[in-house]
Amino acid sequence: MTIAENVARVRQRMEAAARRAGRDPRKIRLVAVSKTVDPDRIREAIEAGVDSLGENYVQEAQKKIEELGPKAAWHFIGHLQTNKVKVAVRLFDWVHSVDSLRLAEELNRVAGQQKKVLPVLLQINLGQEKTKFGALQDDTFRLLEQMGSLPGISVKGLMTMPPFFDDPEESRPYFRALRELAGAVSRRKIAGVSMEELSMGMSNDFETAIEEGATLVRVGTAIFGARPHK
Ligand SMILES: *Cc1c(COP(=O)(O)O)cnc(C)c1O
Repeated sequence: MTIAENVARVRQRMEAAARRAGRDPRKIRLVAVSKTVDPDRIREAIEAGVDSLGENYVQEAQKKIEELGPKAAWHFIGHLQTNKVKVAVRLFDWVHSVDSLRLAEELNRVAGQQKKVLPVLLQINLGQEKTKFGALQDDTFRLLEQMGSLPGISVKGLMTMPPFFDDPEESRPYFRALRELAGAVSRRKIAGVSMEELSMGMSNDFETAIEEGATLVRVGTAIFGARPHK
């Protein structure tokens, strides 16, 4: 299968999942996760219509973004260290993985310097896994109230990465929990915070995530094939 065929297949599956859930497929964006993928193969995805790319590491992404540039929107989806924020804000259009007030404040400060307003999502570690980043669910309201007051970032929603399961049905309760949490946040009407985006679902479970309300799915392997092990 070529990358173009994979993209077409993923889009068909996204549309079918949206229809099953009675949702408008146009409200769901595919973020093709291109970590470890070289620029030529990323270009193939762009030529196949991919307009959003996801990267996990600032340094790795830098070369690709400088080469491929504004042909796509670049989404940062990995753990962001505060010492990489300056470069990240310059390179990326979105950050899905804000997981602390300290990081939000640093993004705000640097975005202000670069005269930008950066769209961000708060990453929630719903599984409370020690090996995963993300804020704890109990801290959601407190963090969002503080983030909403920062003018350099625009809080657009939530992101999560559940524990890995072979059976995507096992991810469903996590996706549902994230949607319900976003609903609770919306009802609180926090100044400066909107909950229009839910970033959830990967190659193994993006259809389930769409059925549960995902607006951004982050799909790597199903588009670019298996990644080399580290
Ligand atoms: C690597 C990665 C993905 C894509 O995973 P696949 O299983 O290859 O689709 C999505 N989200 C995050 C945060 C990732 O690190």
